[in-house]
Amino acid sequence: MKIMKFGGTSIGSAARIKSVAQLVSETEGCPLVVLSAMSGVTNMLTEVAGYLYNRNPDGARETLRRIENRHLETARELLGDERGHGFIKDIIASMLALTREFTGPLQEKIILSQGELLSSKLMELYLQQQGIHAVLLPALEFMRLDAQGEPDLPYIKSHLKPLTGEKADLFITQGYICRNARGEVDNLQRGGSDYTASLIGAALDAEEIQIWTDIDGMHNSDPRVVEHTSAVRHLSFDEAAELAYFGAKILHPTCIQPAKLANIPVRLLNTMEPSAPGTLIDNQTERGTIKAVAAKDNITAIKIKSSRMLLAHGFLRKVFEIFESYRTPIDMICTSEVGVSVTIDDTRFLSEIVHDLKKYGTVSVDLDMCIVCVVGDMDWENLGFETLVLTAMQDIPVRMVSYGGSNFNISLLVREEDKAATLKALSRNLFREC
Ligand code: ADP
Ligand code: ASP
Ligand code: MG
Repeated sequence: MKIMKFGGTSIGSAARIKSVAQLVSETEGCPLVVLSAMSGVTNMLTEVAGYLYNRNPDGARETLRRIENRHLETARELLGDERGHGFIKDIIASMLALTREFTGPLQEKIILSQGELLSSKLMELYLQQQGIHAVLLPALEFMRLDAQGEPDLPYIKSHLKPLTGEKADLFITQGYICRNARGEVDNLQRGGSDYTASLIGAALDAEEIQIWTDIDGMHNSDPRVVEHTSAVRHLSFDEAAELAYFGAKILHPTCIQPAKLANIPVRLLNTMEPSAPGTLIDNQTERGTIKAVAAKDNITAIKIKSSRMLLAHGFLRKVFEIFESYRTPIDMICTSEVGVSVTIDDTRFLSEIVHDLKKYGTVSVDLDMCIVCVVGDMDWENLGFETLVLTAMQDIPVRMVSYGGSNFNISLLVREEDKAATLKALSRNLFREC
């Protein structure tokens, strides 16, 4: 069985829903289709909850009307009549009822789950109208978190498998939404539909997990910055994980782990060009190749210099504990005998962190930096890759270099204003493109 996930951009209008419907109905072997909410809808639902927290039910109702109109119009265009209107009005009415008695996070989660419930029902109705036997599997019946808030794979397996025993041309389910260990409605965090697809793929031991978006697969650099980029046809899960964390937004980072562990290939495909091969991600590493470059903006570098670090032990622990106490993750780290530099992207507690670090040494901060990450087979015994990367940087100031943390990456920290020059120089040197 294939799992086919379509994000909000792929089902953002009646026309888009129709082309996805055609695509899935032409897919052989009874695929399981995972859908996000229509584009922008989860944001609007977040807005609804925001109004309710701020005790502004009128604001919430106005946004709910916009969500209703968007779905009513889409349903009319899609189905040609008012057949879909009943269920849309019911869902909106249930949320309007919540605006009168809003009590907090439990109801917020219920509100956030409605976008996927709306989009999946619309798709089911349309497919059935086309004479396709599409069966909707309610995610709230099988997608569960355990007491630690992690997906409960044994539960998911045992509850999903029987549902797929039914005879059908294809199955549909909602991405993103789930229940927690107490059975309350919950979700897999923003962008979580990719995660749903991956978990379902692992639970059903699927043949392939397909993530369909509206862009042309992975590129070896950011096409918005580098003029000539090439498609990346293959990545290992480890390479994809590095890229997902460092700004290539095509695949949600959490999605990689379940597929990797279950050894199920993930394919990134383009709804605009369904016959293109896309990007295949699996457990194979191609030896001796650099695959892609990605960049992450809004990075802050912090340097702590201290002669107390020289030959001392426990210094780094003290430094890290400060970041931990402010729940601030560190992305990159470089050390020398008398200093350590780290980067963060969450600067909410920057002044507190700097204040606490001053107990241990002289602290300096560089704002508006950018991590550029080169991904590929960077096994330390491969010769020449570090040289290729660093010679590309000969005219660009580099604040930090990190190599050897994994076998798949070299990261550079540069000024944000040098990002474009860095990506272009790396493309020239690594891929002979500029
Ligand atoms: P969805 O989940 O709605 O299908 P994605 O989360 O994959 O879409 O991406 C959201 C939007 O971000 C897409 O419309 C796409 O145009 C854009 N996008 C994603 N990744 C990249 C990238 N690496 N470079 C440029 N644009 C991207
Ligand atoms: N609809 C959810 C969101 O916008 C989940 C997803 O699209 O992946 O975050
Ligand atoms: Mg997405």
